[in-house]
Amino acid sequence: MLCFIDINSSYGFAVVFAAFDGQRVKVFETPKFKPPNQGRRLKEAAKRKSAASHGAKTNVNFALARLSERFDSKGWVKQIAAICFRKALEYAREGPVWVNIDISDDRTVRGGRLQRTLLSIKRVAANLAAWYGVHITFRCYPSRRCPLCGGELKEFKTKRTRIMRCEKCGFYEDRDFTPFYNFLKSLSLPLPKHPLAPLPNPEALRGRAGGKSRLAEWWMSG
Ligand SMILES: [Zn+2]
Repeated sequence: MLCFIDINSSYGFAVVFAAFDGQRVKVFETPKFKPPNQGRRLKEAAKRKSAASHGAKTNVNFALARLSERFDSKGWVKQIAAICFRKALEYAREGPVWVNIDISDDRTVRGGRLQRTLLSIKRVAANLAAWYGVHITFRCYPSRRCPLCGGELKEFKTKRTRIMRCEKCGFYEDRDFTPFYNFLKSLSLPLPKHPLAPLPNPEALRGRAGGKSRLAEWWMSG
């Protein structure tokens, strides 16, 4: 049982649960976990502050504003890590589990709001792995190299995701899942069908007139 976790600060955790049955790699699930939306909580805090500055229960409102502003991101990381381990163990039944955490892209992690807490995953995951007897590694795999032909992948940004596409062979995949293919390749395992989850083929969409707007439409309707 393989559990591959890709982490970057803007998108949170992208996880692939997969297993090799001796012939092919079966992908069970590819959930993504994003940090909760801060918007609502910050609005609430602003309301409290405004009330306090108008003299309404000043102390109480300031205290509540502080509470609303605080987001327990370390708690969130722990929670997501625990969910991933539990799921991997469930899928594995009694079999061995290997969790790899890819936190490679320093540029996206460095300076991000969640930088330190995302990096705290290493300690959290190491503890969970020791507890459950799970094999854990922290290897990083490229998201810009094509796992099929070795060519360079080009990025297409949409509102919700970043799609990587190979100009040479046509491979395309969500950028967050691309390192997973290179992980399998490094183990000489067969690659699963791409994409792992439904995605528009950037080439097909681009090839038509008004390709860009069609891509936008697809995302709006999804
Ligand atoms: Zn290729």
